[in-house]
Amino acid sequence: MQVSRQQRRDLSFSMKASPYYQKTSRITTVLRWITIILIIFAIVCGAGASFYLTQHRKWDWIFVGDVADAIVYHANSLLDREDLFDVSLQSSSSIREFNETNLSYFSNEELAKLGILNLPENFQIQDTYKGIRFVRTAQKSFSEIQLGLLKYFIDITPTRLLNPGPTAIVTYAPGEIANVANLNDRTAAFASGSYMFFNDHSFNPVYPLADTSVDAAFRTFIHELVHVAQFNYIVDRLDPASIDEFYKEGLSWIDLVVNSQLIAEFALYAGWQVYSEGSKLLYKLPNSVLAQTSEYGKSKIYEDMAESVAAFVTTNTVGFSGDRLKWCVQFLGDSDIQVKLHKFPVPFNMQSVNITNPSYDKNKESSMKQRYKYLDIQYFITEDVNVINDIQYFLSEELSQRGWKGTFTRYRDQNGVVYIKGDFDGTYRDLYLELYTYDHAHGFLVKPRGTIMVVMSGYLLKD
Ligand SMILES: [Zn+2]
Repeated sequence: MQVSRQQRRDLSFSMKASPYYQKTSRITTVLRWITIILIIFAIVCGAGASFYLTQHRKWDWIFVGDVADAIVYHANSLLDREDLFDVSLQSSSSIREFNETNLSYFSNEELAKLGILNLPENFQIQDTYKGIRFVRTAQKSFSEIQLGLLKYFIDITPTRLLNPGPTAIVTYAPGEIANVANLNDRTAAFASGSYMFFNDHSFNPVYPLADTSVDAAFRTFIHELVHVAQFNYIVDRLDPASIDEFYKEGLSWIDLVVNSQLIAEFALYAGWQVYSEGSKLLYKLPNSVLAQTSEYGKSKIYEDMAESVAAFVTTNTVGFSGDRLKWCVQFLGDSDIQVKLHKFPVPFNMQSVNITNPSYDKNKESSMKQRYKYLDIQYFITEDVNVINDIQYFLSEELSQRGWKGTFTRYRDQNGVVYIKGDFDGTYRDLYLELYTYDHAHGFLVKPRGTIMVVMSGYLLKD
């Protein structure tokens, strides 16, 4: 039966007129609203849960290691318009001769057009280790200790960053390299193309509150090596015939790096947003994810990459997002596994600090100074209480897994201060560790909270 609109209205009117209907009507209205609210709630929860799951499953899947195709696909769609390199895929290093006069695959003129520094005149190769040249200038050479430390760094660096690595690691005196933007007296290290530049600050920074440990210098070393890897990535795709074109367009090697697929892939993990300005791609880190990298990492996407890898390799990753570290796993691949063995395992909840007037065994310090070519002392602290046993357990396990041999001894002094000390012998670096806590100490008006760790490292450097 067909009911017209008018009939329906009449029908409902007559039904509403009965008192029975009025009662059920109120109940059904309430029930109807409850149903609607429940349905909306279910939709919102379902959408939230599936979003959460897709995010997490995506990363689980990536972590398994099958990421390349998906990421390259996304990166391609990101860069389809403007990728400057994939249109001229040629390997400069395979089609060009290595130029012994400037330790590069390019001429000095080409380097200058790409915005890369020329080596100082009258440079000399001071030493070579595992194929890497250490270069001195007329006024400045590396000290014995610096050469020993650089060789140690090369030994413990993931091979991905050394194949190919820098074509020269250069030291210089102030004023010998004057014509570089942003280079000042305080510059500790920098990379330009396939050259890395180190001066005395690199090993003993002059910044206030600088951490002068070898670990900090190694972190700088890895940071600069990442810039070299960024350059090597574009060299493999850079047709030397197009250098003039890039020069006319005002594109330096840094711009080419920023336009590369390597950077596009990193951007996807780290949350940088891409936009373009003329033929340049630029990246911006949205405010919502600013806090996922170091202060310096926030400044430029290629610095973020260098900071993230340096943090990952030195296993000192507090403040970096998990997605960045996953990208590092992907980028370094298996090459990081064997070298991790020789790195000091900083307990996850401890922060590196400078302590004035630290309490540690001064006799031990002077005897170690005699025994090793180079010794440094680092301090770490956690304000978590009652964790000294966990830290001792963590270090015992990790040190033995990483090839260090030794044991801890433990005692409590008359004031209830707990000390845990140990000597550990390693392949490149011997350790003396001292942990102490005032957690259960008595008789102090003021006492530090948590656990303090002193790490003395004696380096067994090569000649
Ligand atoms: Zn940098």
